[in-house]
Parts: sequence; C-alpha cells; structure tokens
Amino acid sequence: MPEIHVDSPIAVPEIYWQVALPGPLRQLFTYRMPADKAVCAGMRVRVPLGRGFRVGVLWAPAQASADWVIKPIESLLDEAPLLDEALLACLAWAADYYHYPLGDTLLAAFAPSLRQGAPLRRLALRLSAAGSAAGGLESIRGHRQKNLMQRLAAEPEGVLVQQLGDVPANVRRRLLALGLIEAFSLVPPPSWPDAKGVLCAAPQLNAAQAAAVRAIAATYAEFAVWLLEGVTGSGKTEVYLHLMADVLAAGRQVLVLVPEIALTPQWVTRFSGRLGLRPAVLHSGLPDADRLQAWLAVRSGLAQVVIGTRSAVFQPFADLGLIVVDEEHDASLKQNEGFGYHARDVAIWRARRLAIPIVLGSATPSLESIRNLELGRYRGLSLPERAGGAAMPKIYPLDVRNQRMQGGLSDALLAAIEQHLLVGGQVMLYLNRRGYAPNLLCHACGWVAECPHCDSFVTWHRHAQRLRCHHCGYEQAVPVHCPSCSAALTPRGLGTEQLEDVLTALFPGFGIERLDRDALSRVGELDRRLARIHSGAARLIVGTQILVKGHDFPNVSLVGIVDADQALFANDFRGAERFAQQLIQVAGRAGRADRAGVVLVQTHHPAHAGLTQLIRHGYGHFARGLLRERTDIGLPPVRMAALIRADGPAADAPNQLLVAMADWLGQTADERLVIWGPVPAPMARRAGRYRYQLLLLACDRRVLHEALNALEAWQGSRRPAGIRWSIDVDPLDMA
Ligand code: ADP
Ligand code: ZN
Ligand code: ZN
Repeated sequence: MPEIHVDSPIAVPEIYWQVALPGPLRQLFTYRMPADKAVCAGMRVRVPLGRGFRVGVLWAPAQASADWVIKPIESLLDEAPLLDEALLACLAWAADYYHYPLGDTLLAAFAPSLRQGAPLRRLALRLSAAGSAAGGLESIRGHRQKNLMQRLAAEPEGVLVQQLGDVPANVRRRLLALGLIEAFSLVPPPSWPDAKGVLCAAPQLNAAQAAAVRAIAATYAEFAVWLLEGVTGSGKTEVYLHLMADVLAAGRQVLVLVPEIALTPQWVTRFSGRLGLRPAVLHSGLPDADRLQAWLAVRSGLAQVVIGTRSAVFQPFADLGLIVVDEEHDASLKQNEGFGYHARDVAIWRARRLAIPIVLGSATPSLESIRNLELGRYRGLSLPERAGGAAMPKIYPLDVRNQRMQGGLSDALLAAIEQHLLVGGQVMLYLNRRGYAPNLLCHACGWVAECPHCDSFVTWHRHAQRLRCHHCGYEQAVPVHCPSCSAALTPRGLGTEQLEDVLTALFPGFGIERLDRDALSRVGELDRRLARIHSGAARLIVGTQILVKGHDFPNVSLVGIVDADQALFANDFRGAERFAQQLIQVAGRAGRADRAGVVLVQTHHPAHAGLTQLIRHGYGHFARGLLRERTDIGLPPVRMAALIRADGPAADAPNQLLVAMADWLGQTADERLVIWGPVPAPMARRAGRYRYQLLLLACDRRVLHEALNALEAWQGSRRPAGIRWSIDVDPLDMA
C-alpha cells in the first residue's frame, strides 16, 4: 500500500542503498541517506522496518524508485566495512547456492554481538588539556585519583574504560567533573596473546609425507584442491603442520576446519607446541567476548591460525594463505537446519577466489571427494602406511548368532577383552547409543515408553533417573510401574551407560571411562576423562562416535564394535558409506603405537557382502565400489540433490504443499529434473510436527537451481499458515 508522502521536499542530495536485513524475506530493502556519507558495501546500518529497527548490512547502491516511499537509515554503525569484498562475494554465493536469505547469511559471518549492532567503538579516557598542563597533578590529593592521572599521562592515546576495572567509578567521575580528564570513544586495537609453553621438535617426515608436502607446497600461489587420503595414524597432521609453518613464515594466515569441538584442545596443544603461536579456537560454545576478540584479531591478521568447527569458514581473514579441512568426510561439517551450508564446499569456494591451496584430509574420504578426484577436479595424494612404523589393525567379524551374551557382549569378545587387559593393553568398546537402554518395556502387556511428540521411543537414562527423547529433548520421570497394567518395567536394548555398568562388574579394578555426549556436558570433563585414559588409570573405554574423531590413544590394542548390525541395515542411501567410515575410523584407534591392534566386530551377519569386502579390500576399494553403485542408480554425488522439507502441526497440509510443488515442478521445470516423492520423512513426526519431504535430483546444477529459484518465486505468493518449508541443497541428513 503506498503511503501518503508528508515529508518536505528533500533539501540535501541523497543516495540510495540496498540493505540486506535478517529475516525470512529474500529481497533486499532500499533506504536513503545523505550523499555526503562515505559508505560502501559491508558496513552495518540500523534501519527502520515495520514498527521497529533492524541491524542490516549495506549491500549495493540502488536507484531511487518513485513508486516507493523510501525511508532514511537511522544510523550508520561502522566507519569502515567490517567484511571485505572477497568474503562478501563468498557469502553472496552461499546465499544463492543454499537458497538462504542474504541478510541472514551475511550476519552469520559477524561475531554475535556485532550482529546485534554493538559498536566497535568503546568508551575511553585521556587527560584533558587542563590535566596535562603543569600543576594539574599537584592540584589533587586522593592517591587513587593521582594513580589514574599518572596512568593516563603514560598513555596519551587513551585507555579503555573496560581496562580500568580496578578504578572505582567515583574516582573517574570526580576527575571528569574537575575537567582534568576527558571521555572519548575509541576503536580498541585488536590484541592476541602469545603462546605459552615450550616448542617441540618435528619428527623427520617419511617419504610419503615429504612427497605430499612437496606437491602441495608447489601450489602455494594457486588454487588447488588436494585430497590427502591417509590411513588412520599415517601422519596427516604432520603434513598439515609442515605446510602451515611455511605459510606462516610467509606472513599469511591458515584456517583449519575440524569436525568436533571436543577435539580442539588437543589440536591447540599440538599446534602451539609446534608453531609457537596461539591459534584462535572458534566454535559455537565460545563466550561472546572471546568470539569478538578472536574475530577482530583474525580480521587484523594478528591471529595467524584459526582452528574451528564449520562456522569458522566465515572468519574475516586479513590474508589467508592455506585452508585445511580435516576429516573432510565428516557430516558435522554440514549444517542441517536453517542455513544448510557445507563448510568444506564453502572453504573450496573461498580458496578458489583467493587463489590458494586447500587440503582435504581423511582416512575415509566422502564419495563426493572421491568422485571429484576421479573427474580431475581435485588432486590426490596418499599416505598408505602408518607413520612411525605402527602396523594397521586387523579387523575380524565376530559371529554372535546363537552365542551367549552378557550385557551385549559375547563370550568371545569378553575373552579377548580379558586377554588384552591382562597383558597391559587398553580396550575400547564402541556403541553408538547413549543412555542405559533405548527402550523401557512392559513384559506383561507390551507397553513401551514413547515420546509424546515424536515417532520415537524414549531412552532410559538410569543415572539421571529420567526418560529422554534424543530427538526433541522431551524428558520425564521414570514410571515405577507400567502405566497401562501396573506390572514391572524392564529395559530393552543396550546403551553406553549399561555397557559401562556391565564392564565395571565383569572387570573390577581396571578403571573405566565413558565418552559420550552425556558424560561430556560439563566443561573440562572431557579433559579429565582423557587424562585418566592417557595416564592408564582407565584401561577400559566405552563410547559413542565422540571416540572416533581423531583421538590418539597409543595403548589401545583392542577395539570392540558392540553392534554392527544396526548400521549395516540403515535405510539412508548413504548408510553403507557411513558404516564403512565409522568402522574404519573406530578401528583406527587401535594399535597406533607399538602394540598391534585388533578389531572385533560383533554381528549376526558375518558374511554380509559389504562388511566382507570392506575388511578384505579396505576403504578405498570399497568406497569406489559404492560410487559405481550410486552412478548406476543416479544418486549423489553423480546427480546433485536438493531436499525440500515441509512440516506442520497436522499431517495433511505439509504433504499437500509438497504434492502441489511436485505437480507444479512436473509441469514447468526442465524435463531433466527428477522428482521423487513427496514421502513422509523417516521420522514422520518430530517435536509434535508432521514431516514430509520431496527429493529433487539433476545431473546439471543449473537445472536444479533454476527449478529451486522458480519454486521459491512461485511459492512466495502463497504462504500456507502454520507450515514451515525449507530447501536443503546437497542434503546429508535425510532423517
Ligand atoms: P593422522 O593425522 O594421519 O591420524 P598424526 O599426524 O596424528 O596422524 O600421526 C600419528 C602419530 O604418528 C602421531 O603420534 C605422530 O606424532 C606420529 N608421526 C607422524 N609422522 C611421523 C613421522 N614422520 N615419524 C615419526 N612419527 C610420526
Ligand atoms: Zn503393562
Ligand atoms: Zn521427542
């Protein structure tokens, strides 16, 4: 609705800018401001929107349009753009590629307080002319006031008020009132602490490592994607460290992306010990002030190395010279909700734009990366053997059919555990299910404790005495009797808590540590537990996939995979790939030093073709076989996919929305677009919402993106009430 223009005619010449604002709307908004303001893209502004104000980012100059009533910006928040052109271009690409609103995408690159509009300027104090004049100091008596005057006299640039924590406010106020000091605002200079501790020597690289370093080093000045396929313990990290030392010596920065927060402390110790600097560690659990400090230090170039989980890919580097993505196959590099970016793929985009090399490292590369290698888009390097002479572990399937089981463990596995413990080894048991038991069941009437909001059972957490849903966070007290027939309830199935109890009873005195998300919810807990494992105080280790990611436990000689069957028969088309990656990664924890490693895989399907092949021929061969299967069926990575998800409080509406979309696409889209569905999501109801999905596939990226753009435009005009829908490009999580 056009409003009536009541403003007086514009006196000062004005300019118009498009502003990207947070929120679901995809469009940019135009605002005006006086032409004498020096502005450019990437600066933050506060603008009126509706009845309130929003913080947005200046995007591009706009033409004024006579049809619109264009409002003035309320204020300009920055004096210079906070994001440079290359990063803005990357964010624009990501917004486009992942079909996510530009405003929200841009703001994802800011430290959180800056997102809210916090100014970079801070209040500071300095001596006034009267205060610095001769005799100023003599005129005051209080010693605290004198101290402050002396401190400010020593720092003519001024001191931030936040750095005067020990000076009471009334001391400052008194001196301000006397006119001896003055307040002003200052952009604090970025700061970054030095490394603590001593430097450690680097081992002599073996031939394969040295060859990898040489090859990558030849591409420091160009864009190149290197896939470093190195078996677990082959010394990939040593390769990274050598490259990093080179790049740092040239004065440039390095970004290292890792899949898991839990791993960052180990990386920090290893990196600072070798490179003699303090890396900036970035992950979502970091306090806001630390994040801002790191962000500013990275932007200024003071922080030379960034180690972080996926969002670190959006850090504003001053001069990035190398990117490393460790465990590039790991699904946590992709965000599943909201802004569904894959940090590896964004990192590759940044590397291309900056003309620098990027190294993707893994013992179990994703099929996507293997395919890109086969197509010649990536260059391959391999480290086929373990560094330092350790042998690869031997993997054996353990047939548990008809076997007596105690707490999920067969006699054969128990015997092996005992044997390894008795000769001084450590034993690790992998079970990817936390809690005590996945079900609580009534044996009399068949009642099972379910989540009221999801199509899912609730897990019994015995230590916490709660039933918890692992999908929506619902929890409740544990019922004493069956709510339907009053009989006693029995646990069914095995979780890590129970496994811990079973092992404690069977192997008393050996010490046991459990590593899963429940055990690590307190800060510092992981470090404590890891310390007990490394010191040998704990000889048995039980854990979920947290165990898998990159930990180095030199004394582990036996790894037991408690239940392989669950993963063998996953219903996701990526099930086999995931299973193989997990098995090889868990197996890789065994025998990393001088003890030979053994891996026992409990299964009811010891002759399963995939399992047999994987064990006999190794991951590389197995994965290439899977890739041929995907090629035959036409699934990613051979075709590109996008998943459209819809959910709502009742079952019909989200399904109907997707049916309408599928029909519309069927009529209008390029005929090369393949449309599958809609179908109910594998978990058809979660957190009280009914979920459906529609899978789109195309060999050509453009076909897919054109269809998605058209769909968004078509759907934009008809927003069904109560229904959410979203686009996930290159989806990894199909649940
Ligand atoms: P990855 O990252 O491939 O799992 P790491 O770089 O962590 O492997 O190396 C595994 C172990 O081997 C580490 O303890 C590391 O110190 C050691 N190592 C790596 N390279 C060498 C080498 N060239 N000589 C001796 N030991 C090495
Ligand atoms: Zn009952
Ligand atoms: Zn639930």
